[in-house]
Amino acid sequence: MSLPTTEVKTEDLTAQTAKTKQLIVQKFGGSSVSDAEGIKRVARRVVDAQKAGNEVVVVVSAMGDTTDELLDLAAQVTDSAPAREMDMLLSAGERISMALLAMAINKFGASAQSFTGSQAGMITDGIHGKARIIDVDPHRIRTALDKGHVAIVAGFQGMTRSTREITTLGRGGSDTTAVALAAALEADVCEIYTDVDGIYTADPRVVSTATKIDRISSEEMLELAASGAKILHLRCVEYARRFGVPLHVRSSFSQNEGTWVLPSADDKITIQEGVALEQPIISGVAHDRSEAKVTVVGVPDIPGKAAAIFQVIAKAHSNIDMIVQNVSTHGTGRTDISFTLPIVEGADALTALRAAQPEIGFESIEYNENVGKLSLIGAGMRSHPGVSATFFKALSDAGININMISTSEIRISVVTHADLLDDAVRAIHKAFDLDGDAEATVYGGTGR
Ligand code: ASP
Ligand code: MG
Repeated sequence: MSLPTTEVKTEDLTAQTAKTKQLIVQKFGGSSVSDAEGIKRVARRVVDAQKAGNEVVVVVSAMGDTTDELLDLAAQVTDSAPAREMDMLLSAGERISMALLAMAINKFGASAQSFTGSQAGMITDGIHGKARIIDVDPHRIRTALDKGHVAIVAGFQGMTRSTREITTLGRGGSDTTAVALAAALEADVCEIYTDVDGIYTADPRVVSTATKIDRISSEEMLELAASGAKILHLRCVEYARRFGVPLHVRSSFSQNEGTWVLPSADDKITIQEGVALEQPIISGVAHDRSEAKVTVVGVPDIPGKAAAIFQVIAKAHSNIDMIVQNVSTHGTGRTDISFTLPIVEGADALTALRAAQPEIGFESIEYNENVGKLSLIGAGMRSHPGVSATFFKALSDAGININMISTSEIRISVVTHADLLDDAVRAIHKAFDLDGDAEATVYGGTGR
């Protein structure tokens, strides 16, 4: 994969739009291609982009809730599906949409060819279910473009180099496929099409008055994605930042300008003529119900015990998020360590911890899936005092009890009871004056 030699200057984005021939990578999510009508609608849009003189690469997700349905099916067959077979199954979802989209585009008078992740040269490591892209060799895509085709690529999947095993990148992974292809092909822009008009100050399904963000730094977007905002896959944002790929997140159901995610905080994009927007203090509120809280009770309060615990968790390939160690209870020489991890990784992590209990010497483990995490994100927090005061006052006024707290330079996160999470999100959104005048439009998607 070739690294772009110069950093993308996003001041030039408007100029690039005026440039005649662009290479555009367009990614369409499941709700944009949920049925035959959706596929045809997307096909028309793709054909328009090509007819306007651009080279177009399209990355598609599985139709609608296909991935969830395939997961349900597998669960009905077995509760211990081999990870390899799970990837064979799940990768089929994207192959259905890619072929149907190619057919629709051909019918609308342009020519298109579809490619699986492996055909498109997406080389990954061998961790089934959450593989990482280690190389991209898109020569077949380049050839298809040179021949005047639209190239369609199945998102969310790849292949290991040596063993040629099919892998998937983890839920929401098609975004990452799109950005990786955009970087490897040195595309001018990567457009992520979804069922809302862009990135909002909160999930518009929870906060109906959430406001669309016109531009956001990838630093803030990284925190939002890491904090549970599902609009963009975390690794896609990391990748875009590393390779300087400008992202434009927009709706496939409207022609509205969406949200630009800009690789560097210094990048300015002129949205209205001549007006460079000022950096707001707060970008938005994210929430996450996909994590569980683990408390390791009665850990001997001596050096090396935390290391031992987290080594065990790392070996179980679990991604830990918040960590809190309590003050050791007076006189006992023992302390409690709590952390959160994805619910889907909970069972494996617990098994691994229990196996290590005699060696580490802790007393017990508590596990709670009934929690939710709320995060407030904004690069302006660095230079504006009083953000935490407003934040905690709003939660206290709303009567919301806090289980855990963690912060970074540009983020405050708390864990609450899952049932209180939506109320907490609305309270914080309001306290920071993020509510807009109009209701945000949600065009599709079940939010399943
Ligand atoms: N179809 C996969 C999922 O639902 C990948 C994606 O949509 O990005 O997670
Ligand atoms: Mg997605």
